[in-house]
Amino acid sequence: MSFNALVVEKDDEGKTSVSVQQIDTDRLPDGDVTVAVEYSTVNYKDGLCIGPGGGLVRNYPHVPGIDFAGTVEASDDPRYKPGDKVVLTGWRVGEAHWGGYAQKARVRADWLVPLPEGLDTRRAMAVGTAGFTAMLAVNALEDHGLVPGNGPVLVTGAAGGVGSVATAILANLGYEVAGVTGRPEQESYLKELGASRIVAREELAETVKRPLEGETWSGCVDAVGGAMLARVLGQMKYGSSVAAVGLAGGANLPATVIPFLLRGVNLLGIDSVMQPYENRLRAWKRIASDLPMDKLEAMVQPATLSDLPRLGADILKGQVRGRVVVDVN
Ligand code: NDP
Repeated sequence: MSFNALVVEKDDEGKTSVSVQQIDTDRLPDGDVTVAVEYSTVNYKDGLCIGPGGGLVRNYPHVPGIDFAGTVEASDDPRYKPGDKVVLTGWRVGEAHWGGYAQKARVRADWLVPLPEGLDTRRAMAVGTAGFTAMLAVNALEDHGLVPGNGPVLVTGAAGGVGSVATAILANLGYEVAGVTGRPEQESYLKELGASRIVAREELAETVKRPLEGETWSGCVDAVGGAMLARVLGQMKYGSSVAAVGLAGGANLPATVIPFLLRGVNLLGIDSVMQPYENRLRAWKRIASDLPMDKLEAMVQPATLSDLPRLGADILKGQVRGRVVVDVN
């Protein structure tokens, strides 16, 4: 018994290479649930794991893919039985444990969630880790007081995966959305998702000169980090919050504490990897109800396992628009 998988290998000189290979089923890692994977996706982290040097990968050979959706084939855990549809994001699957770029995966039952009602496996992966994280960010902002009608919510890295899903969800919930993009050609795409205003990346690229600027944003989902996040903090309205999701623009935060002290601005950290089960269910349930499926479809480009080396490189360069759905079969 064997299955197809994208395998990353490392040679004696430390150079990594990627190829689609047939793997024997008995090489699957330990776990209590075996899943026939139907779809996976391409996230920024996947780009790191596929790319030169292997990024976050612990051991080789490795099967990347930080998320997947599929059907349970075998289970030693009473929570899942053959035929159940399941979704996995996080838990360092695809980094420290073999992931979703394969026709089969074996994982711990604790890492899975049942496929949310209202989504099929393809749409669950159109959302994927990026979209799930966008939902966690919106939940965090609303838990800290964000409501529609108080001015624009800023989404940085808007044409990327997190940004596209955040834009569509926020617009559907009645928020005015301003999307920051470095790709002016994506303006009509972002407007189609519901952004009412486009902010050019250069406008927020300069490092902080004045710790406080005009109070402009009622909330922010930030996929970019770095100098842009620092700049945005000084433009937040009194008492508002920024959900810090990503570092596409850098991991440094060259900011001052003044927005926190004088405007009561909150910086909310968003981690999708170790989220407790109940939060996962809450987010997925809300995705099924609050993310319009026609908007989701507008974000999607299809791919296969053999497209992944190219797409992994593209996402690290910020060149993937929206979400990629990988049909592993
Ligand atoms: P994408 O590559 O799809 O999106 C990132 C977007 O950021 C790009 O599309 C681009 O948008 C913008 N961008 C890229 N480079 C730069 C730059 N140098 N300066 C400013 N903007 C830039 O990635 P994802 O949406 O999948 O992930 C976004 C970030 O969120 C990543 O850093 C990722 O690691 C992180 N993440 C974190 C998670 C968590 O649990 N905290 C979970 C998932 C993702 P545009 O062209 O519109 O400007």
